[in-house]
Amino acid sequence: MSNPSVENVVIVGTGCAGLTAAIYTARANLNPLVLEGPLPGGQLTTTSEVENFPGFPAGVDGFQLMQNLREQATKFGTRFEQALIDRVDFTSSSRKLYAGDRLILARAVIIATGASPRMTGIPGEKELYGGKGVTTCATCDGAFYRKMDVAVIGGGDSAAEEALFLTRFASKVYLVHRRDTLRASKIMADRATSHPKIQPVWNSVPVAVEGVAQGAVSGLRVRHVQTGTETVLPIKGLFVAIGHQPNTGPFAAVLDLDEGGYFKPIAGSQVKTKVPGVYVAGDCADHVYRQAITAAGMGCQAAIEAERWLAEHSHE
Ligand code: NAP
Repeated sequence: MSNPSVENVVIVGTGCAGLTAAIYTARANLNPLVLEGPLPGGQLTTTSEVENFPGFPAGVDGFQLMQNLREQATKFGTRFEQALIDRVDFTSSSRKLYAGDRLILARAVIIATGASPRMTGIPGEKELYGGKGVTTCATCDGAFYRKMDVAVIGGGDSAAEEALFLTRFASKVYLVHRRDTLRASKIMADRATSHPKIQPVWNSVPVAVEGVAQGAVSGLRVRHVQTGTETVLPIKGLFVAIGHQPNTGPFAAVLDLDEGGYFKPIAGSQVKTKVPGVYVAGDCADHVYRQAITAAGMGCQAAIEAERWLAEHSHE
């Protein structure tokens, strides 16, 4: 079988970073191909109101923001295809990306694969994940828990945001955290801890999700870290909000990663990798800021670098 034609630039991922890279490379007439993975639009599609993206004083719905970015990228000629990249070979100048048996060739590659929610790994979590009461997305699943008690695990901005969102539906929201203060930003922490429907459960680690035999969550067993006492919170829904795992696995053999598994760009750049013409952008390469606007900024940087690199190597 003959090889496919070589794309100018392939962008892997459709979150803020990928779509911003698409807008810039499309406007530069590079006819980018964007590969869409398992969560089209990325993490923002699972959030509710985004209040800190510049230019939206009244806030903007996360899903709508991603629709807007996609529309903007499409307007300038971006092509979208579904393909889950599982391995790459960057040894020849036509970079090879594989999605199962499918081969995609590109002169420049922008990897913007984001990060996925982490799970606690406690018994019952996996068994009851999905429609059985354990989830990582309040925006997606919160409305299923009208007038029920639920719990959120975590102490960061995500946990505070999930807990606050859930107060629209749930009767009570336990916020289970292993410390006695939230690590969330002050404004989010204050909003969460002062909300009458949110009951913080401090110094407590999750031990097991109960209800496996019945096929539906019936409680969360937690252990107090100082006393060792175990109690069961009587809940119907469990929202896990303990951070994210970068989606870098398929590239781990060929690009440098840090100890957390995030891409490690070369010194002096946020987006350049050790492979010329291959760039990284967004949450897969950023464990510090992890904001929609910083991901978009990295997508822009990667696009401009790719554009310059392609111009400099147009004769090859
Ligand atoms: P995060 O800040 O890393 O917080 C993760 C939380 O989960 C921490 O409180 C951590 O506890 C806890 N945790 C981790 N593993 C655990 C385990 N196995 N069992 C129990 N608890 C565990 O993650 P995040 O909240 O997803 O936020 C990520 C980044 O996105 C942050 O920079 C955040 O500011 C940003 N963000 C911003 C917004 C916004 O501006 N609207 C919204 C969401 C997220 P410890 O505190 O003990 O480490």
